[in-house]
Amino acid sequence: MSDRAAKMRKTEKSDAEWRNELTPMQYAVLREKATERPFSGEYEFTTTPGTYVCAGCGQPLFASEAKFDSGCGWPSFTQPVVDDHVAEETDTSHGMTRTEVLCSSCSGHLGHVFPDGPGPTGLRYCINSAALKLLPK
Ligand code: FE
Repeated sequence: MSDRAAKMRKTEKSDAEWRNELTPMQYAVLREKATERPFSGEYEFTTTPGTYVCAGCGQPLFASEAKFDSGCGWPSFTQPVVDDHVAEETDTSHGMTRTEVLCSSCSGHLGHVFPDGPGPTGLRYCINSAALKLLPK
């Protein structure tokens, strides 16, 4: 396998492996699409410079420079660190139509993206702290 093919390989694990490796909260969010309570997460008010990676597989997802205080109760970002590191799906649960955001490598649920963010993207990636791990610079 070429280096590039190895890099593009998706992270695939069994349900038992995920349960073993993740905390109950990480598992609930990443694998069962749970949402942590607003203002309850570890990174809501974090301003430490660094890179937020997927708590499931380590793929870089958001840079601290893209983080902003939206007041919504979850860590919010204007854009991913690399566009194709996040995947989007239409989510019609709970009587709403929203755009779900997932890690493109392990398909872990991260949160949702809304079109009410600040410039230049106008987007607000509203992400569960439990889906993230901050690697400080
Ligand atoms: Fe991941």
